[in-house]
Amino acid sequence: MLTKLTKELNKVLPCENVLSDFEERYAYSFDASETQIAGSKIADAVVFAQNIEQVQAVVKIANKYKTPIICRGAGTNTVGSCVPVNGGIVLNFSKMNKILEFNDQNMTIKVQPGVTIGEIQNIAEKKGLFYPPDPSNLKVSTIGGSIAQNSAGARCFKYGSTKNYVLDLKVVTARGEIIRTGSNTIKNAVGYDLNSLFTGSEGTLGIVVEATLKLIPKPAETQVLMAYFDDINDSVQCVNQIIEQKIFPSTIDFMDRNALSTVEQFYHTGLLTDKEAALLIEIDGDYDSILKMKYNICKILNLNNAVNIQYSKNETEAENIWKARRSSMAACAKLKPNVTTDDVIVPRENLAKLVKGVQGICQKHNLTVCLVGHVGDGSIHPQIPIDFSDEREYKEYKIAKTEIYQLAISLDGTISGEHGIGSEKKPYISNVVEAGALSYMREIKKIFDPNNILNPYKIF
Ligand SMILES: Cc1cc2nc3c(=O)[nH]c(=O)nc-3n(C[C@H](O)[C@H](O)[C@H](O)COP(=O)(O)OP(=O)(O)OC[C@H]3O[C@@H](n4cnc5c(N)ncnc54)[C@H](O)[C@@H]3O)c2cc1C
Repeated sequence: MLTKLTKELNKVLPCENVLSDFEERYAYSFDASETQIAGSKIADAVVFAQNIEQVQAVVKIANKYKTPIICRGAGTNTVGSCVPVNGGIVLNFSKMNKILEFNDQNMTIKVQPGVTIGEIQNIAEKKGLFYPPDPSNLKVSTIGGSIAQNSAGARCFKYGSTKNYVLDLKVVTARGEIIRTGSNTIKNAVGYDLNSLFTGSEGTLGIVVEATLKLIPKPAETQVLMAYFDDINDSVQCVNQIIEQKIFPSTIDFMDRNALSTVEQFYHTGLLTDKEAALLIEIDGDYDSILKMKYNICKILNLNNAVNIQYSKNETEAENIWKARRSSMAACAKLKPNVTTDDVIVPRENLAKLVKGVQGICQKHNLTVCLVGHVGDGSIHPQIPIDFSDEREYKEYKIAKTEIYQLAISLDGTISGEHGIGSEKKPYISNVVEAGALSYMREIKKIFDPNNILNPYKIF
């Protein structure tokens, strides 16, 4: 079967676009999650499509052999979303990476799925426009993967997530047809909202081969504030007070003591490591509104016992602060052979209980946790360095994870705000999506993918 499959793929794709050696297939059978593939169940083939016709040809072959297609952008998702747990064809989009159209007047950009978020942001910014979603890996993560995970990132607080910017998608369906899910217009009230259905569907409903995205005007100025606290409760209280007073920064992000000291240990960015918590607050707008916002935010920070407040004076200083925050996972990875990150979210009023609760759970199970998160949205990312080969530690970690999800649910929250479900969180989905809604999701999957070839057995 493997040889026949590879031979057929070789007929529709240039030879160099089909990888079939064991080492190559193995290398493309992982992502940024802890999902392990069992022995022989690695990808049967890895292919690089260069155009839509090639994608359709791959779909035809997958249907013939009833073999899965697992789309792959940069593989940075953290939930096992592009791990070929049942083998199949890994369909890589790194060769479909062209900007197809930039329209100043409509403020839209049309791209192929392999274009990185960083490139979209750079091109937009050169024209005075802005694409806000930022999944923290913007130099590598692709728009195809970000649409599939409905990625969000730090600026979601003010600007929303990927789905708020998707105007239209060209999709190759599981039957090999091409459909469009939206239009080139900023509004669209025609029929069911297929853009939203496909955004966040983790490659299980269709293959995105083109995306038209909305851009917005770039804010005139941006400034980043970093405030440190001796008491974690004070930092969380600030978040709620800033929002209660209707102040709208573009980001309110968080680092706890462990995150601060781990990043500083390995990257020396000048973080204050003796503090319990820090908030990173990005404000944007015109000069006057920034001044006013900064004044009001600082008042709240001081009232809540912020012990040190720093401001970026230029873009380089702002970038340095962000670099520190973005480095937390890489720094954690240096503490132990493995590192995992998670993503839980609660209504903001319960944020303090979530933060304290997650720290308590990890302490109880003897795990180090570096807590970071987009706390303006009520979301946190517990990053846990771990040695998977240490059976005792791994067992404790698994129990801790379940307890963290239970905690988020008990606080009226849910098990993912932006990373998705993939295979990692599949066992927990029925705790947050009721049976009736889940069975509709399964029916939708059957309609779009009757042979169950598109990233099967993910999400539910
Ligand atoms: C350190 C770290 C920090 C992160 N921080 C954030 C964060 O702050 N916010 C956030 O939202 N995410 C974050 N992420 C998660 C991740 O970066 C995002 O999910 C990212 O958008 C995934 O893009 P990708 O190109 O790597 O997709 P991949 O991981 O390659 O794929 C993700 C999913 O998309 C599907 N897919 C890929 N291309 C297509 C296509 N063309 N058509 C259909 N399906 C497709 C895949 O099958 C898979 O299901 C973080 C990850 C790491 C490792």
